[in-house]
Amino acid sequence: MQNPRQVARGRRALLGVVDYTLAKRALLREVRVGMRSRADICDAHPELMRAAKHVGEQTRRDCPVCGRSKLVLLAYVYADGLRANNGRVWTLDQGLTLATRHRNAWCYVVEVCRDCAWNHLTEAFVAREAG
Ligand SMILES: [Zn+2]
Repeated sequence: MQNPRQVARGRRALLGVVDYTLAKRALLREVRVGMRSRADICDAHPELMRAAKHVGEQTRRDCPVCGRSKLVLLAYVYADGLRANNGRVWTLDQGLTLATRHRNAWCYVVEVCRDCAWNHLTEAFVAREAG
């Protein structure tokens, strides 16, 4: 059986990527200096928390807010032709696979802490134009 992480990496090669690390760092800095409260940023919707529990892909990264849990990743895909599946939650591999199959599809990867409800967009992948 193929390692799902390696499959996910293979899919990534077919997609352009936008990294949101800087935006995340800026937000975390605002909390450290008191410009924002933890409640402002640990606000995952109950549905997102449920998805994180059931389909979230475990990472080895500690939550940057509470440090008590490892983050999990979820994917959302938007594309013409996806119809009712637009905005559905997927595992990372499912989301990336789906995005490679649809022109101009976007796959948004969200990290979630199942402990404190921290959530943030980490990366967005866009399907490259075929041909
Ligand atoms: Zn946390």
